[in-house]
Amino acid sequence: MKFGGTSVADLDRIRNVARHVKREVDAGHEVAVVVSAMAGVTNQLVGWCEQAIVERRIFDAREYDAVVATGEQVTAGLLAITLQDLDVNARSWQGWQVPILTSNAHASARIADIDGAELVNRFKERKEVAVIAGFQGVHEETGRVTTLGRGGSDTSAVAIAAAIRADRCDIYTDVDGVYTTDPRVVPRAQRLDKVAYEEMLELASLGAKVLQVRSVELGMVHNVRIFVRSSFERPEDIDPHRDPPGTLICDESEIMEQQTVTGIAFSRDEAQISIRQVQDKPGVAAAIFGPLAEANINVDMIVQNVSADGKTTDLTFTVPAVDYQRSLDTIEKTRGTISYTRLDGATDVAKISVIGIGMRSHAGVAAEAFKALAERSINIRAITTSEIKFSLLIDAAFTELAVRTLHSLYGLDKS
Ligand code: ASP
Ligand code: MG
Repeated sequence: MKFGGTSVADLDRIRNVARHVKREVDAGHEVAVVVSAMAGVTNQLVGWCEQAIVERRIFDAREYDAVVATGEQVTAGLLAITLQDLDVNARSWQGWQVPILTSNAHASARIADIDGAELVNRFKERKEVAVIAGFQGVHEETGRVTTLGRGGSDTSAVAIAAAIRADRCDIYTDVDGVYTTDPRVVPRAQRLDKVAYEEMLELASLGAKVLQVRSVELGMVHNVRIFVRSSFERPEDIDPHRDPPGTLICDESEIMEQQTVTGIAFSRDEAQISIRQVQDKPGVAAAIFGPLAEANINVDMIVQNVSADGKTTDLTFTVPAVDYQRSLDTIEKTRGTISYTRLDGATDVAKISVIGIGMRSHAGVAAEAFKALAERSINIRAITTSEIKFSLLIDAAFTELAVRTLHSLYGLDKS
């Protein structure tokens, strides 16, 4: 059971969490609990680190970790106290106590190994519930505290679940599952019962608010079934022997009736760049994308034409909107190596992605989208496809219309 920041935001909510845990224990389940810091606490701790330096530009990441890891320690202790208060045997665990061994990459450490044996033993011997501080670990050589990157307690939870071979990793959060698209844009969006790991990774831009992407990757590698559910339901209202509302993220073999399209993600955070009449000769793409990569700019969609005259062609691609100006400057600098007539760009674009593992076995899924968007006079600037997804770049002004259109087109609307 993992509880995020809003679910443990104050003592009342921590008590509510304790009742959720007690409910599972009373129902005869063996559980371990992972907690985040109380809402807002990590932001404050990060802010303090930033304000602590005046003379230097950056602070020591080891000390940053020493500071920001404290948030979770407080919640783990408080939840253990409230559990004991309800007569549930409980003990808090910090990352180094389990231990959760990680790499040395302070502030974005990766989990290397977890020994879950003691957590399991204690539950079996004396029904002692382990309450584990999320987000943190320890570097095996230096023994120093590390943290896993923002949102990392989801990853802690999935890693612990793998280590104790849990049947399921329940992520309790402030939403009751993963939706076909953002319900604020499409009120008829529906909660998905099941999503395959691969789809969830693609749905990241929807799911990022729900789950850290790395936790899904980890779940996929170790085959941990991840269940996203609401922590705001009253524990008394839940029948622990029934399937509660939520979304199960699992292997595709567990999903029986597979829809062609599972969900639609969108993002307005990209910008388009077009290089006009660039020379069509070997090495040009390398001359453009090499410097962008060196500048740490993540290129996403790439579209290049076959030249009509064998001499020049157009090259279009997208970059994160925050890197737009930097990308243009980087390309300008290549002008000595390659020649082109014009550099165009646009930041008022949106990327719409249609995702579903069912696409592997269905032809013409994207073609339907092109037709539907054309009927609404929405122009497509660029297209990319993969086995289980296609993405379209359009004018940002049409984002909502396009998402709604495709949501109904693929039968995702709630009736
Ligand atoms: N407390 C950490 C954060 O805010 C980790 C987490 O909540 O997942 O990023
Ligand atoms: Mg979170």
